Amino acid sequence: MRIIDSHCHLDRVDLSAFGGDMESLLAHAKTLSVEQFLCVCIDLEHFSDVLDLAKNHPQIYASVGVHPCELDGKDPSVEELLTLADDDKIIAIGETGLDYFHVEKDSADWQRERFRRHIRASNQSGKPMIIHTRNAKADTIQIMQQEKARAGVMHCFSEDWDTAQAALDLGFYISFSGIITFKSANDLREVAQKVPLDRLLVETDSPYLTPVPYRGKPNSPAYTYYVASMLAEIRNTTIDEIAKATTQNFNDLFFHER
Ligand SMILES: [Zn+2]
Ligand SMILES: [Zn+2]
Repeated sequence: MRIIDSHCHLDRVDLSAFGGDMESLLAHAKTLSVEQFLCVCIDLEHFSDVLDLAKNHPQIYASVGVHPCELDGKDPSVEELLTLADDDKIIAIGETGLDYFHVEKDSADWQRERFRRHIRASNQSGKPMIIHTRNAKADTIQIMQQEKARAGVMHCFSEDWDTAQAALDLGFYISFSGIITFKSANDLREVAQKVPLDRLLVETDSPYLTPVPYRGKPNSPAYTYYVASMLAEIRNTTIDEIAKATTQNFNDLFFHER
């Protein structure tokens, strides 16, 4: 069995439990069958850290983009994104999207504009997007439709079925995180039950959002195992089937393999 953590921030995880050593974090993840990682960029100030991780580890891939909540750092043009994305180890554009939880909707023109630039960079480079959306589902889908977003994933999905359906209709994948293990997440588990098997991905978003049974402790990519395990339970199948499908889906999306 092989599981891929489709969204983590390895440059930000706490390595103190691993003697400060990324290799031992990766080895620990492997004991739970988590063997590949997409390390997602949040701001350009730390892009070189993210890229270095991918360059130094064959099992780590990276993305380039600026998170919708980043206020102070560099805000790249489409051309700048394309230049930074021009590397075999950069397999996605993002994370990008809209977040009206942290930024007031009415004052978020810059956020919507930034999102559009990321979509254009994705369409021009052919590299799929990683979309973050919070309290902004209608605008997120509308901008994806207007800009003809072609491929990508709705990461850390926590919206309703209509939003999932709209993203699926655009050809997007839906990635679930540790949120589906939370006691209060019954509605989300219903959504997770309905997403077609060939459009599912799993992630930790570590160091954030630690799943049960480790909630409250630092998150680690290894715990993708518990996300896959919960998906298996919800969908009345085996973790092997979830691992197989989500690994295939990751390769289909990011490496166009079938
Ligand atoms: Zn996010
Ligand atoms: Zn993230």
